[in-house]
Amino acid sequence: MVADLLVTNAEIWSFDEEQGIVEALAVRDGRIVAVGRAAERIKAKRVIDLDGRLVFPGIVDAHMHPMSLSLMSEWLDLRDVASIEELKERLRLWAEGRGGWIVGRGWDQESMVERRCPTRWDLDEVVPDRPVFLLRVCGHLAVLNTKAMEMTGLLGSGRPDVVVEDGRPTGLIIEDAVYEVYGMLPKPSIVKGTGLMISTLRRLARMGIRGICSMGAKEYELKVYKHIAKKGDVPIRVSVYLDQEFLSHMDGNALKGLPPKVDVAGVKLFADGSLGGRTAALSAPYSDAPNLNGRLLLDSKTVSRLVNRVESLGLRAAIHAIGDRAVYEVLKGLRRARMRNHRIEHASLINEEILEMFSELKPMIAVQPGFIVSDEWAVKRVGEGRARYLYAYKTMEKAGALIAFSSDAPVETPNPTFHLYAAVTRGRDVGVELSRHTGGEEMNFVEAMRRYTVYSSLIAGFQPSIIRPGYEASFVVFDARSVKEAGRNLKNLNIYMGVVNGQIN
Ligand SMILES: [Zn+2]
Repeated sequence: MVADLLVTNAEIWSFDEEQGIVEALAVRDGRIVAVGRAAERIKAKRVIDLDGRLVFPGIVDAHMHPMSLSLMSEWLDLRDVASIEELKERLRLWAEGRGGWIVGRGWDQESMVERRCPTRWDLDEVVPDRPVFLLRVCGHLAVLNTKAMEMTGLLGSGRPDVVVEDGRPTGLIIEDAVYEVYGMLPKPSIVKGTGLMISTLRRLARMGIRGICSMGAKEYELKVYKHIAKKGDVPIRVSVYLDQEFLSHMDGNALKGLPPKVDVAGVKLFADGSLGGRTAALSAPYSDAPNLNGRLLLDSKTVSRLVNRVESLGLRAAIHAIGDRAVYEVLKGLRRARMRNHRIEHASLINEEILEMFSELKPMIAVQPGFIVSDEWAVKRVGEGRARYLYAYKTMEKAGALIAFSSDAPVETPNPTFHLYAAVTRGRDVGVELSRHTGGEEMNFVEAMRRYTVYSSLIAGFQPSIIRPGYEASFVVFDARSVKEAGRNLKNLNIYMGVVNGQIN
């Protein structure tokens, strides 16, 4: 036999108990055909000497939003803006000759000389006549001009996710309000959207990501996949979880005409909101807003009714639950429905009662390690007493949950090294407050990788991400010579190569 590709001189963590760590692997027709010494004996059309680099099975991002990520790549990029004056100038130039919504992303008040967030009055000075939406680098916060605040009905709304200073809305909005406005933005043509989607998925392949779960997909995204299907296929596997709105008008056509690597796996449901916006449903009030305990969107009865409906369509439910009240109701609802095949998204805050339910129900949970270092407000929201139950992955696992990693891109970067960094350090190196309250929840690099490969492939329903003869030849190569080196320098760890179905990216 002649293989297509032989990888040698590598430290390959196969995550296959029979193989362990090996030095070589051979690929033919997109599959692994041999590993270790057996691979080294095979002739190959192409040989890559990895000079001792680290190899792991292909990454699966169990929860992200590839369409939003793609559309955002077309926005005004403000990542290197050094002052509010510069931001205004760039906005003015960008808006010239553009009609409708003016959208941008990437500003960060910490890297601007004024050290303050822009306001709607700043934006009004340069673009008063068309709506403007500028997302902060974190994706949780945005600034709108007055026109946009009026058009979206946010100006006099009095909502908790609209920032008010001296009794006046500043134009800054957070969390749920951000996602709502995002949903109102006009979309490019399907042809244009298709091009953007393909390049996003290629970019993910270069990061060693072999597949993703696309959460809450809407009509537009399905149209993009169907357009792709006319000519070919997507570069990585996409498992689609439809937006809840499909439940009321699901017709069989929604699921037909998709490319080979795309399938509709389930429906995304929302049990509550977010911690940032204080809309995550908590069992006790917010520590920084004692009159609020969030918004529960689904109680346990509704969860079991909806889950039954999803199941009757042959699909799985992926239920967003961030606050401990919401997680509790979802677990109770799943227990009532006696169904174990469904999944929980986030489960950011838990409690002892929930941990007891984990041991009985063994839920599958998609978490986003990046939140640990990005959610600057999380500890303030729940107080020091409850902080140890935030993103407490190891505790959750010990209680019986299966924890799978994901990015929630574009809320966080899709780059897996950032989420690995967050899971391993929990931001201790940069003084993230939460790291002081959740000692013992840190993972080592290999543990973190297992949750980004084997466990996330399980929750996604893909063939397990392991390196074994007969399995899909998808793997990621890190630019490091040992797990020790990779773990020590996670902030600067680069992905050297991503191989998906035997294809080098
Ligand atoms: Zn999400």
